[in-house]
Amino acid sequence: MQFEQGANPARVKALNQAAILKAIYHHGPIKRAEIAKRLGLTLPTITTNVSAMIRRGVVREAGSAQPGEGYLGRKAHPVDIVPESRRFIGVEIQGARRTLCLLDYRGRALYTRADGEDCPDYGRNMEMARDMIRDALEACGLTLADIAGIGVCMPGLVDNRQGTLVVRPSLNWSGKHVRGDMAALVGYNGPISVENNACARAYGAQLFRREALGDVQTFAYLFINVGIACPLVLNTASVFGSVVGAGEVGHMVMERGGLRCNCGNRGCLEAYASDWAVLGRCRDALAAGRAPVLRQICGGRPATMELLLEAQGAGDPDAAEIVEKAVHTLGVAVANIHNFACPSRMLIEGKLFCRQENRERLLEVVRRNLCSVIRTGEFIFVEPDPFSGAVGAAAVSICKDLETYVE
Ligand SMILES: [Zn+2]
Repeated sequence: MQFEQGANPARVKALNQAAILKAIYHHGPIKRAEIAKRLGLTLPTITTNVSAMIRRGVVREAGSAQPGEGYLGRKAHPVDIVPESRRFIGVEIQGARRTLCLLDYRGRALYTRADGEDCPDYGRNMEMARDMIRDALEACGLTLADIAGIGVCMPGLVDNRQGTLVVRPSLNWSGKHVRGDMAALVGYNGPISVENNACARAYGAQLFRREALGDVQTFAYLFINVGIACPLVLNTASVFGSVVGAGEVGHMVMERGGLRCNCGNRGCLEAYASDWAVLGRCRDALAAGRAPVLRQICGGRPATMELLLEAQGAGDPDAAEIVEKAVHTLGVAVANIHNFACPSRMLIEGKLFCRQENRERLLEVVRRNLCSVIRTGEFIFVEPDPFSGAVGAAAVSICKDLETYVE
């Protein structure tokens, strides 16, 4: 009866509705009695609210083709979200590139687009994102009125309540009112969510990787890119949708007095294992006349993670050494994170782990450094996907929509 009692009936009703909708989203197709059991609410409360959601077209009984169509008076069928009832836009703004997706309520992509123009200017990035949103709407034959929410994510320290980017050191962006700027540029007065791009991926995993996460109570999402972050997620039905902290693990010190990091400190994880650090090592090796295979594969172009992995596979000893240093440091960091937070599962997304041998090596180092009394963790490698950030940003917006559902 956690939500039924209270002094403010309207507030209680809104909380009940949001909790019921989240339960359907998270566990659907699900029977009304099962929702009642999961939430500790009475069956009549569930039935009344679910009927209203069916009338509104956001929920339907499994097997019914049309939103609003029900089996009232007959045997109650499981209910589920109507995927096509709402649409969301997600945008990841990275400076070096921007990606966009337009998703339905269940995360099916109706449109995706990537833009690879390297641009360090914040205002220009926002304008390019606006143009991508316009193009997406036009391509899908939609208007802003058809969009239930827009999610924006970017690297850096984000204040998701204020919708601001506090700071993004690598591009000298700070104090940016992302939500307000996006609303003004696009001319959108619906909800706009702003989130860190690693946290956004964690939301995306929570909504759209149910098969990988099952009913786990907590999970972590290690995201290795230009920086490294590992947000933790509480995955219980009642607080479904809470990413706990940005998980800025990139600056945990792995080596006292070690390599210089972007943040000004020394020995940070990011200085060893981020794509930024790894590609810096490649540049150094090439400049010193080492990494012969990588040099040949690059053919004068700057090294990329993909080319490095190719050189590793082709037996370049220097490429292998650069990868080994990064994977080993990551392995120790993963064990530290795990020893500290003990998430039931850890999802790992990073280009280094496109190669199976690097996955095996990471797990070997993790196992060697894991506290001997902790043997419960599961590690799942996520295939790097150029749209995972945009999908995650849309997922943040969907979570917000579920959280604030009011009839
Ligand atoms: Zn640092």
